[in-house]
Amino acid sequence: MRTDAFALRHIGPSEDDLQKMLKTIGTETMEQLIFETIPDDIRLKSALNLEPAMTEYEFANHIKKLGDKNKMFQSYIGLGYHQAIIPAVIQRNIFENPGWYTAYTPYQAEIAQGRLEAILNFQTMVIELTGMEIANASLLDESTAAAEAMALLFDVRSREQKKNNVNKFFVSEEILPQTLSVLQTRSTPIGVELVIGNHEEFDFSNDFYGAILQYPGKFGQVYDYAGFIAKAKANEIKVAVAADILSLVKLTSPGEMGADVVLGTTQRFGIPLGYGGPHAAYFATKEEYKRSMPGRIIGVTVDTDGNRALRMALQTREQHIKRDKATSNICTAQVLLSVMAGMYAVYHGPKGLQYIANKVHASAVTLANELEKLGLYQINTAYFDTIVVKTAAKNVKAIAERNEVNFYYIDENTVSISLNETTSIADLNKIVAIFAEANGKQATTISELQNGNQIPASLERTSNFLQHDVFNKYHSETALMRYIKMLERKDLALNHSMISLGSCTMKLNAASEMLPLSMAQWNNIHPFAPLDQAQGYQEMLAKLEQQLNVITGFAGTTLQPNSGAQGEYAGLMVIRAYHQSRGDYHRNIALIPSSAHGTNPASAAMAGMQVVVTKTLDNGNIDVEDLREKAILHAANLSCLMVTYPSTHGVFESAIREITQIIHDNGGQVYMDGANMNAQVGLTNPATIGADVCHLNLHKTFAIPHGGGGPGVGPICVAPQLVPFLPTNPVIPTGGEQAITAISAAPWGSALVCLISYGYICMLGAEGLKKATEVAILNANYIKEKLNGHYDTLYSGEMGRAAHEMILECRPFKEKGIEVTDIAKRLMDYGFHAPTVSFPVAGTLMIEPTESENLEELDRFCDAMISIRKEIESATIENPNNILKNAPHTLMMVAADTWIYPYTREQAAFPLDYVAENKFWPTVRRADEAYGDRNLVCSCAPIEAYI
Ligand SMILES: *Cc1c(COP(=O)(O)O)cnc(C)c1O
Repeated sequence: MRTDAFALRHIGPSEDDLQKMLKTIGTETMEQLIFETIPDDIRLKSALNLEPAMTEYEFANHIKKLGDKNKMFQSYIGLGYHQAIIPAVIQRNIFENPGWYTAYTPYQAEIAQGRLEAILNFQTMVIELTGMEIANASLLDESTAAAEAMALLFDVRSREQKKNNVNKFFVSEEILPQTLSVLQTRSTPIGVELVIGNHEEFDFSNDFYGAILQYPGKFGQVYDYAGFIAKAKANEIKVAVAADILSLVKLTSPGEMGADVVLGTTQRFGIPLGYGGPHAAYFATKEEYKRSMPGRIIGVTVDTDGNRALRMALQTREQHIKRDKATSNICTAQVLLSVMAGMYAVYHGPKGLQYIANKVHASAVTLANELEKLGLYQINTAYFDTIVVKTAAKNVKAIAERNEVNFYYIDENTVSISLNETTSIADLNKIVAIFAEANGKQATTISELQNGNQIPASLERTSNFLQHDVFNKYHSETALMRYIKMLERKDLALNHSMISLGSCTMKLNAASEMLPLSMAQWNNIHPFAPLDQAQGYQEMLAKLEQQLNVITGFAGTTLQPNSGAQGEYAGLMVIRAYHQSRGDYHRNIALIPSSAHGTNPASAAMAGMQVVVTKTLDNGNIDVEDLREKAILHAANLSCLMVTYPSTHGVFESAIREITQIIHDNGGQVYMDGANMNAQVGLTNPATIGADVCHLNLHKTFAIPHGGGGPGVGPICVAPQLVPFLPTNPVIPTGGEQAITAISAAPWGSALVCLISYGYICMLGAEGLKKATEVAILNANYIKEKLNGHYDTLYSGEMGRAAHEMILECRPFKEKGIEVTDIAKRLMDYGFHAPTVSFPVAGTLMIEPTESENLEELDRFCDAMISIRKEIESATIENPNNILKNAPHTLMMVAADTWIYPYTREQAAFPLDYVAENKFWPTVRRADEAYGDRNLVCSCAPIEAYI
């Protein structure tokens, strides 16, 4: 037997352990278990047609060679993407550190204080640079953030402006092309009418509810928007501004001009280009819109002892609660990237950022002066980092490419040059030489940056920013390294113990999959670079699409969506386009089972669909008769069914083929939510169950780490009839022949992290992928068996098996005064992150171990759960002073001189033997949700608090 197969590293249990586990659950063989779990009529009959598995070493060589096919030109293309310097201390201690990248969204605040603080820093940075009141914890990219702004202002228009019937939204022609495309996609289904034009000619007519401007404009012209915003305000038109974050260091903030929303990307704050992403978008607005704000907001509150604690605020805004009334479907965002961008600000501080912004500006000024000496004039009358030169573009392009330099060619006679933090004097001389050669002139040599100011006095930033302590004391590497470590130690991630969050698939994110992300050949490519410079990427992305086609059984894939929820939205928009192509404009009903994830109805609403909820039977399955009735009732207008498979209840429903047939018989398409794909790969697939389109969460099933709440990649895979409608991009065309407009800013979404899923599939191969799925199912059934008699499992398949996850009943413990949250918090004392709490059934826990956890870890977890079950037994409703209600127990509490609890310190902190060896200390006691929501604070304490 080979011992270098990646499958042996990825899959937790050994062969011997697998045999023991099969015995424990009362099955002879793996084949038998799968037979008892997955309905026979949907089982794949042959192996996935994939290339033979590579070893880790082979993959490392392969990806290096492939990377060499990407040409690393200097990029001055701009358009929202700029080369950036990742501070090495951040690269090594965050970007490449599993303590940061393997964490989940901070649902369990007490063991997530580190990244919560890092995100609070990010929010503070955004609030101050934009001049706004509140900011969120990131969005997916600048263009989708602009669409969220359009939707937020649409949502509040009737409340504020009494503009119930007003649906026009003005878009400045200075907006980035990819943003315009995303706005077009998002506006049509919800009934917003975009009017594109010159902001200086806008007539402020009353039938507009809002407007969006780009600051500076797409080719670098800096406009003073104060007049526009004032006039808009006078006419009750709300204004969003998409702003370049680095320019705000030098420019008057949009907040000071009166903007209602300010958004943009933080990519150039130390995040690699990565051929388009992932990068964190920022979104800031006024306090009065806090309840309509998309995405997560981190807020300050207090814990049980009154100490400061952080947690996600205002959760009732989210789609989990609001479902089809939600105005946004953002779930996974870009947390890891926002942590890095925030840390970039911590590292550089206000002075460092000023130095960088001044240097970039001086580079642009120097270049403009030098080109002028050659008789070449640039046309921006005010600018920060981008100049626009009038010259024959063709000549320049040929010489530039020979010199491995990319500019943006606006038209035959116009070239745009965006400078960045990496631009050196040597780079400037190279640029000048290119333009000189193209015009038959002799270049002069620049020896130092020239002082000069191309920012009008009225737009010079005068307000302070980043005065807080945190931005002013970690400027040495030792100090920052220790600050990062201090935060990391507060957080429980996969490098500590299993995170069995049901539906989230927290599996191994292997080092071999992650390493290529740090290679410049992969991370330093501009998304709008010419295709012939990105051949390594093109090959890798095409292969990944092909692999996903094979795995899902479908005909085409787009990698554009940056999260599962964006995949849902993309899939529904593709279905919509398909119906419309057949003249069926009226098909707008989406059937969604009541157990669906909150993003499903929210995405359907975004796609302009009307949601009809179908019933769930007592046994958790879809009520087929109810579904049939509703499909027939709505047959004339049926657009689609959204169904999760295996179900959110962790069961392979045997009626699935009948269900998909009913939809097809009534003219609808079937959308499969692929969040549970980890139970399908290699054993069955969406095409076989009769679906037409599915999204995959590459950050669940295909090993991209969750990053503490992002990045994510949510490709959709589609049947042949939907392929023509896959989305395009306005700068680099992608997608089908009748492509819908863009879903995301970048043509291939978060291309950089697609390397991880590509590596995962290449290294596991057909056999390894199938084995991974089988072990995921076995691990879940093993836990189910071990906990049997202690906890009831809510749902199982016809032969008593769970799929890859299961739901534990916890509601009866209310009789003893114990809520499911108490169990979640007590698990922290045992060194575990809680499973998913109260989804899809309130008052329950949903456990998904994944294939990466070995038998010892599964046993430790089961021992913890059984021990907690005994603790519940001795709890009483009369006396809430018990070990569960008081959990988690902090080190401060246990080490304190006074101890006022009716159990010992040892029971509190070291309840089982294994705990002592690897103790994890939560750093705060329970965070008070209600207090924090009543007193919303979403930035670092004001400077006065430190005095
Ligand atoms: C995770 C999940 C989603 C949403 O995916 P994101 O990537 O977080 O947007 C949708 N449906 C189900 C069932 C999920 O588990």
